[in-house]
Amino acid sequence: MNTEEARAIDEALLIDLLNTTPVVDERAIDLLADDADGRDWLSARGGTGSAEELRVCRDLRDDIQRVVRSEASPSSLSRYLRDLSRVPVLTDDALHWVLRVAEDRRLAARVVLAWAGIRESLPGALRPCANDECRLFLLDRSRAGTARWCSMATCGNKMKARRHRARAAGD
Ligand SMILES: [Zn+2]
Repeated sequence: MNTEEARAIDEALLIDLLNTTPVVDERAIDLLADDADGRDWLSARGGTGSAEELRVCRDLRDDIQRVVRSEASPSSLSRYLRDLSRVPVLTDDALHWVLRVAEDRRLAARVVLAWAGIRESLPGALRPCANDECRLFLLDRSRAGTARWCSMATCGNKMKARRHRARAAGD
C-alpha cells in the first residue's frame, strides 16, 4: 500500500467514526453503544476489536465530534497521540514511515492523524451536515468548498424541499 492509499483509508475511517451517531427514523442512534456491535465495527476496519480499543474509540468519537463542531479545542485530541512514534523503514523500493503505537490505540491514532492531515491540507472541509436534524459529517473535496450536506440525495433534497415549502407558505 502506498502513502496515498493509506491516507485515503484513514480519512474514510475518520468519516466513518464521526458518522457512528446517525439519525434513523428521526431517532439518534449510536452504532458503538452495544459492546458486541462496537467490537465488530472496529474489527471490520482493521482494529483489534478489544474492549480497550472500543473504550478509546468511543471517547475519541465524542471528542472529535466536539472539535469538528467547534465545541472543543483541537488540542483536546493530543492525548490520543501519546506514546506514539513513527520510525523509518527502508525497503528495496522506498523509505516508509511506520507507526509505532500500542495495538489497541492504533485505530484512534490513525483517526487523529487523518484529522490533523485534513485540517492542514483542506482547512474547514470537514464539517457537520447543515441539516440541523442530521448528525452526520461531511468532507468537502469540491474545489469551490461549498458543499453543505452529508448527501445531496438525502439532506440536500430534504432541505431544498423545506425551503420551497417555507417560500410557498410565505406567498
Ligand atoms: Zn445530513
